[in-house]
Amino acid sequence: MSVLLISCATITTEQNDNEQACSSGKVRITTDFSTARMDECLLVDENEYLITLVPENTPINSSPWYAFKIQSDQTTNITITMKVRGDKHRYPPKISINGGAWQLQKHQIKGNRLIMKITASPKPVVIAAQEIINNQYYVDWAKKLKVSGKITHNLLGNSTQGRPIYKIEHRNKEAKEWLVILGRQHPPEVTGALALFSFVETLLSTSKLSQNYLKKYNILVIPNINPDGVHAGNWRHNANGLDLNRDWNQFSQVETSLINNYLQQLVKQGGKIKFAVDFHSTHKDIFYSMPVDYGVEDPYFVRHWLGALDYLMPKFDVVIKPGNNPGLGVSKQYFSDHYGVHAITYEMGDNTDRIKIKRIAFNAANLLMSTMLSNANHNKE
Ligand SMILES: [Zn+2]
Repeated sequence: MSVLLISCATITTEQNDNEQACSSGKVRITTDFSTARMDECLLVDENEYLITLVPENTPINSSPWYAFKIQSDQTTNITITMKVRGDKHRYPPKISINGGAWQLQKHQIKGNRLIMKITASPKPVVIAAQEIINNQYYVDWAKKLKVSGKITHNLLGNSTQGRPIYKIEHRNKEAKEWLVILGRQHPPEVTGALALFSFVETLLSTSKLSQNYLKKYNILVIPNINPDGVHAGNWRHNANGLDLNRDWNQFSQVETSLINNYLQQLVKQGGKIKFAVDFHSTHKDIFYSMPVDYGVEDPYFVRHWLGALDYLMPKFDVVIKPGNNPGLGVSKQYFSDHYGVHAITYEMGDNTDRIKIKRIAFNAANLLMSTMLSNANHNKE
């Protein structure tokens, strides 16, 4: 059984709006923590449970999320069957025993049903679709970054339900150009979050390359754009049931309009948005870019950068998929249309090895810095 990288997030006691519980008297299955979700739970027989997953609203991208806690007074073996109403499973279950490291949980798939045997005991066991990275995790991460680097961690504004949306910045007085990093528009896309953490840590490191880069460029990171969706364990949407990465043309939602307003403010103050990376997850590793003939500055910039990544990592097949969807409302298109620059959607596979995610992000961040610096020097000549 392979061990996943992160340890179990601190289970916070913030009220969960979808709170459900299922108890046999001896065994209790509960959702009293942030990110938890188990839409329906039924005791079908002694020690046998049926959990049904239901999305926040439809239509929706097929990303059934679940997270629940199991505990019992005495050690008891139970069987849990999970089904998804009108859909099928996307995420193989992960387990964290008594707050320990996440591991893949053995299970069987029978049709659309996922079946697993769990040992319940007084030590709490958490089962989740992916490693739990809750809203508090981002705050703790930013605090750690702050200790090692000269960053600020401030409130950008509040979400639909009033949760804080934070920004992390590294500014240099001499620098005018901004790199923008976005994450977690889609709550279950945890491998994208893992990539963002390593990517940003590499950008803000004490390496010579980072130090040179940070003299020339400012960095804005908004790592957790959809805290209401993360808290509720949503499959994809914000608290209004809308896909935030389809709202970068309308800005009908507070989460996206906060970012748009802030970027426009930076530009008004003389800043220039130079490049943006938006972190997501899907069934495979892929980088969605804007086409080279779209008319943005440095048309081959993304190809040069990711081509260098492909060369550096011979065992990692770098797939670049250019696309132009003017009416779709994705962030990548917004950056190109509003600021005339490239942007990418950086997608990590749901099941990509967690150490590999870190290695890719480390190399991609270093190569991004060297590519941007050498372009800047080239343009000066
Ligand atoms: Zn996504």
